[in-house]
Amino acid sequence: MKIIVCIKQVPGSSEVQIDPITGVLVRDGINTKMNPYDLYALEVALRLKEQHNATVKTISMGPPPAISVLKESLWMGCDDALLISDRKFGGADVVATAYTLSQGIKRLGEFDLIICGKQTTDGDTAQVGPEIAEYLHIPHVAYVEKILEVKEKSVIVRAIMDQDIETSEIAFPCLLTIEKGFVTPRLPSYKRGRQLKDVLIPVLTFKDVDDQDENHYGLKGSPTQVERMFAPLKKTEHVFLKGSSKEQANALYDLLKTRKLV
Ligand code: FAD
Repeated sequence: MKIIVCIKQVPGSSEVQIDPITGVLVRDGINTKMNPYDLYALEVALRLKEQHNATVKTISMGPPPAISVLKESLWMGCDDALLISDRKFGGADVVATAYTLSQGIKRLGEFDLIICGKQTTDGDTAQVGPEIAEYLHIPHVAYVEKILEVKEKSVIVRAIMDQDIETSEIAFPCLLTIEKGFVTPRLPSYKRGRQLKDVLIPVLTFKDVDDQDENHYGLKGSPTQVERMFAPLKKTEHVFLKGSSKEQANALYDLLKTRKLV
């Protein structure tokens, strides 16, 4: 079984800067880490590797420092890694990110399963996984919270959506996005880290992808763009509601209604 796991490097804290002109996150010189949700995706893939003799390749799209999360994935036990990086890919929104990743995945040859985290802690949209699946014309299940059975040509998974639990059998090749919390991600191995400390991670650039139309990548290929970015205003206004419980409840309802919150 051939598995690809998509992992993303995200800011290590909420102290981030936004480029006031492009509205894009300034990723240079900030503390970074692996997207926490992707650790669960990796753990699921590594368990499948152990139980079903699979190979696991990680792929990340981002600036050169994203190499560090790919190395971490190798230290955790993955077999191979690929960085997708080019200035032309910069400033991508969800659509352009998913498209670029799908172009990169196409260059990797055949696969059975793509595993993504449920969402990231910076962009936070939870859309990239399903969009990759659409671009690759393969089925997907999002919010998977358990792999129930792996068969020769399919996998049975349980997904959780708000209050609904859905069990589905999905044929390979397919894509899953993984909920956090149902496996405990392993730590990178010190020994593997020492063995692989000089490993070179290949980088796929614009010239390597099939679609050579620059308008499909980065800022140019992004239908959504940030118009304005600002820190939220902190308000410390208090309202005290008086009267009986019923009067207070009615007053609260009126207040929420006036503010269009209900
Ligand atoms: P999600 O969909 O939340 O990620 C799900 C999973 O997909 C991840 O767990 C991982 O497995 C995989 N994945 C996601 N990104 C990568 C990657 N780069 N490499 C490998 N795997 C990956 N997007 C818009 O569409 N419109 C906007 O206006 C917009 N504004 C933004 C403003 C700011 C300040 C920030 C920080 C982000 C903004 N984004 C916007 C989202 C941004 O472009 C995303 O970083 C990018 O599109 C990926 O989406 P996501 O982080 O929401 O991923």
